[in-house]
Amino acid sequence: MNHGVLQRYGNHLPIGTATPIISLGEGSTPLVRSRALAKILDCSEVYFKLEGSNPTGSFKDRGMVLAVAKAIENSSTGIICASTGNTSASAAAYGARFGLPTVVLVPKGNVAEGKLIQAKVHGANIIMIDGNFDSALGLVNSLVEKHPLTLVNSLNPYRLEGQKTAAFEIIDELGEAPDILSIPVGNAGNITAYWKGFIEYRNAGYSNSLPIMMGFQAKGAAPIVLNHRVENPTTVASAIRIGNPANWDSATKVRDESGGIIDSVDDEEIISAYRIMASKEGLFCEPASAASVAGLIKLRSLGMQFKGKRLVCVITGLGLKDPELPSSLIWPDLVEVGTTFEEVETALLNYTLRSGVSNG
Ligand SMILES: *Cc1c(COP(=O)(O)O)cnc(C)c1O
Repeated sequence: MNHGVLQRYGNHLPIGTATPIISLGEGSTPLVRSRALAKILDCSEVYFKLEGSNPTGSFKDRGMVLAVAKAIENSSTGIICASTGNTSASAAAYGARFGLPTVVLVPKGNVAEGKLIQAKVHGANIIMIDGNFDSALGLVNSLVEKHPLTLVNSLNPYRLEGQKTAAFEIIDELGEAPDILSIPVGNAGNITAYWKGFIEYRNAGYSNSLPIMMGFQAKGAAPIVLNHRVENPTTVASAIRIGNPANWDSATKVRDESGGIIDSVDDEEIISAYRIMASKEGLFCEPASAASVAGLIKLRSLGMQFKGKRLVCVITGLGLKDPELPSSLIWPDLVEVGTTFEEVETALLNYTLRSGVSNG
C-alpha cells in the first residue's frame, strides 16, 4: 500500500510529532524505461519519472501534502494559491479531504480545461482574474498579508521540501543518482526541489554522485534563458507559461552548481516531443512535460552525446488534463460504420492494410 511521502520519507522532512501524517497516496510513482527516446538520443539508459501517476495527476501533490499537513499543524483556517492549473487542482483535492477551505486564483483563458474541472469538483472557491499567472501570484501574495490564509504556492518552503522526495525515489530505484536529470521549468520550484533532494540524499550516504541538471523553458516563456522578465509569456504548454519565476535565483544556482543548463524549446519542438511520447512511448503527457523530452532531442540534434549516460526525464503531469492542444492537432480519422458484420470487417481490413498487421 502507498502511505504517501510523509510516511515514506518523514525522517528527511521537516515534520515533528505535532504534524499530522496525512496522505492521498502521493509519491512512489513509476520510473519507466524509454524505448523511442532512447533510440533518438542514442543512449541505452533513459527513464521517465511518471509524475502524472500522482493522485491529482501531477507532481504538485508531493509538496501539497506537506504544505497542507503544516497548515493543519498551525491551525490554519484555509489555503490559497495562484495557479496555472495543477497547483489549484492539488490544493483543491487536499483541501477537500482534510477540511481546509481552498481559494484558487487562476488566469482567465490560461488554464487547461481538465485542471479547472478538478478545482471545481473538489469544491474550491475559484477566482478567475483577467490577467496572467504572474499577476495572480502577485495578488495572492498581497492577500495573505491581510487575510489569515496559508499560501500554498511554491513560495511556501514546505512545497519544495515535499517535492524533493521525487529525487529520493529515483536514487532508491536506481541505486545511484542519474548522470543527467531533464525537467521542464516554469516557476522553477521543481528543479530547485530535485536538486535539494539529490544533495541531501548524497550527504546522507544514499548516493555518491550528483546529476547534471537540465531545465527547459518554453521559448515564448523563457525569462531565465533570456535573463529578463517576459511580460506576456506565450506557449501551448500552459503549466510553464510563466514570465517571472518565483524561484528564479535558486534555479540559476542549481544550473551553475550542477554544471547543467537551462535552455528553451519552441512550441513546435514541444508538440513534436508530445506526439513521440504518445505514439511511440505509449505515454500521454502534458505539453509542459514534453518540454523536458523536447529539450533532450534538441541538444542531441545539436550534437550533444548521451551514449553511456544514465538519464532521467521528469514527466510532470498527465495529458488528459489538457484536451485543448490534442483537439487542435491532426490525428488519424476514426472510422464510422453501421452495425453489420461486413461493414465492420471492411473497416478492420482497411486498418490492417494501412498498419501492416497480417492475419499470419
Ligand atoms: C507546475 C508544473 C510545471 C512547472 O514546475 P515549476 O516548479 O513551476 O517549475 C511543469 N509541468 C507541470 C505539469 C506542472 O504542473
